[in-house]
Amino acid sequence: MRRKIIAGNWKMNKTPSETIKLINELKPLVATEDADVVFCVPAISLVIAVEAAKGSNIEIGAENMYFEESGAFTGEIAPNMLTDIGVKYVIIGHSERREYFGETDETVNKKVLKAFEHGITPIVCCGESLTQREQGITIDWIRQQIKVAFLNVTAEQAKKAVIAYEPIWAIGTGKVATSAQAQEVCAAIRVCIGEIYDEATAQAIRIQYGGSVTADSAAELFAQPDIDGGLVGGASLKPDFGKIVNYK
Ligand code: 13P
Repeated sequence: MRRKIIAGNWKMNKTPSETIKLINELKPLVATEDADVVFCVPAISLVIAVEAAKGSNIEIGAENMYFEESGAFTGEIAPNMLTDIGVKYVIIGHSERREYFGETDETVNKKVLKAFEHGITPIVCCGESLTQREQGITIDWIRQQIKVAFLNVTAEQAKKAVIAYEPIWAIGTGKVATSAQAQEVCAAIRVCIGEIYDEATAQAIRIQYGGSVTADSAAELFAQPDIDGGLVGGASLKPDFGKIVNYK
């Protein structure tokens, strides 16, 4: 049985002082022994978020990092800066980073490799656009994203990875995928991982669904056999996130 993992992606929301307040407010609401709970917060708040989450079940994740160790990369955050302060997860290749900041499957792969090198768990994002879905190429597209993202990643590493399937048309739109749509793609991702590695790796890797998840849709989505939790945007900034984490 895979352990569920429910992560909030705060995106570019909340100042550092608002972050402390929100973590303290959500702490009792997201307490559970049944799932891993991760808050991915803006880089400027990572240090205080780790501090604020101490003594709770909340782990802190970054929303991005760079694939080099150090050096002349103005504005970027290195992996050892994250581990140094106790960050355990990093979102890699979110569709917003691909769309607005030029991330590609290749940069995603470099970042995934780097995260593993430093013992940070990557939450590797993939997802199709509405046009791609309408053209019937969703599965082909996702398989391509996954194959490139996992190039040179070992089976032992892949077993610890988290994949977030986030259809772009469902992000921030209120148009959540049906549980059947989400399950179909998450199952296809697991098959793809099985082809790249083996059945044991496919069964170990955790696959989240993301895109307009709310307290109303979480239970049905997370009950699907290949959906191991969610990556939650808007609803992770509200007390509702407690209901999503305790969806049962
Ligand atoms: P929303 O839950 O706001 O649709 O965002 C989903 C997302 O992009 C999480 O990474």
